[in-house]
Amino acid sequence: MSTPRRDLCVALVGTGDELVEGRHVDTNSSEIARALIDAGFEPRRFTVLGDDEDALVHTLLELAASHGAIIVTGGLGPTLDDVTRHAAARAAGAELVRDEAVLQGLRELFARRGRPFAEANVRQALFPRGADVLPNPNGTAAGFALEIAGARVFALPGPPREMRPMLAEHVLPRLRARVPDLPCIERRAFHLYGIPESALADAAGAWMARDANPLVGVTASGGRLSVSLRAEAPTRAAAIALAEARAAEIRERFGAWLFSEDEPDLARVLGRTLLARGVTVALAESCTGGLAAERLTRVPGISAVLEYGFVTYANRAKTDLLGVDPALFAAHGAVSAPVAAAMARGAAARSGARLAVSITGVAGPGGGTAEKPVGLVWFGISADGVVTTEERRFLDLGRDLVREFAANTAYDLLLRALRGLSEAAPRGAARG
Ligand code: ATP
Repeated sequence: MSTPRRDLCVALVGTGDELVEGRHVDTNSSEIARALIDAGFEPRRFTVLGDDEDALVHTLLELAASHGAIIVTGGLGPTLDDVTRHAAARAAGAELVRDEAVLQGLRELFARRGRPFAEANVRQALFPRGADVLPNPNGTAAGFALEIAGARVFALPGPPREMRPMLAEHVLPRLRARVPDLPCIERRAFHLYGIPESALADAAGAWMARDANPLVGVTASGGRLSVSLRAEAPTRAAAIALAEARAAEIRERFGAWLFSEDEPDLARVLGRTLLARGVTVALAESCTGGLAAERLTRVPGISAVLEYGFVTYANRAKTDLLGVDPALFAAHGAVSAPVAAAMARGAAARSGARLAVSITGVAGPGGGTAEKPVGLVWFGISADGVVTTEERRFLDLGRDLVREFAANTAYDLLLRALRGLSEAAPRGAARG
């Protein structure tokens, strides 16, 4: 990794016994980190501490040596275990002083709520001398900003709904003002299906080097790869140009697998595309048991194009509902190309849909054989009466994931078939 500029480096500290005891997760730091990255800063370290004043003093001083800013959340309440203000004051070598305006505001707030003002609340009007007070419109704990050993330290309350607006209104603008030559960041995302992560890494090569600019990253989920692109430049126009140039190369190199640039969910992309094109669809599912239809029906308005979802688990159901010839089971088994083809053909014929997909496979954990192992899934696709089949051998990563891969592959195959339909002469509902 390249040597970071100290003024861009930010450390995040979550405080609270509930965090180190595992009762709560420090979601504040992740959320703040994402906002910082979008703003052009570099979150470099997360630290989680209990309500321990000495540990916080030590941590603040240590982090101040290598970070331009530190953002602490939590520990601003009125009780003795709320130690952030005391720790920050000690680390800065400053005394705590009472802010009369904040105290008056607290008294008024309690009066408005008809609650007695407990003396413990005076603690929430104490701030290290020299600190800027950051108002909290959603709670009693005001935050503050303070210089500690050359780093700007921001203290924010722990509850996310209080922290969030204060980050946006008080912290990010102050951080930006400290770094006039803040780089501009431009991001793009690409969602791919059907290409293994290792193949993508090989093909993307140096784009994924840790110090590359634009920097390309990838995360995998359910057989889908999400590729992120982050370009950094001194001006917005230069960052956009840099991002767009690499985006064009990504589209060219990975276009065959790219299903979306904004929506990571294949079912939604398929649903929206079917709706936009007015192409009807039916599904015939065995090993996914309706999963593929269920996720497609999450798309609002999908009833305009989805009429039939067959769950045909037993062979008898495949015959009764889809008209699969029983002789095919005897000759090839239920998990086979001929049965997948017959299921898709039957689903299209009985529903009248232009597109139909079938799914029949071995989801496991039992039922696998040497010839037909767990993870083997056959798909049939009927597109305007033309039936094709596809075989996939998914890694046996457990029943849930095999079913997830199978549903996603069905969507992917339908999207590909849909593209094929668009190239054919427009007919019927496909027009427009
Ligand atoms: P307040 O006085 O408004 O409660 P505070 O600064 O004293 O503010 P804490 O008492 O430390 O905040 O935390 C209050 C609650 O905020 C916690 O119980 C937890 O639900 C939430 N919280 C605290 N820190 C975090 C964190 N890092 N991530 C997510 N939630 C948090």
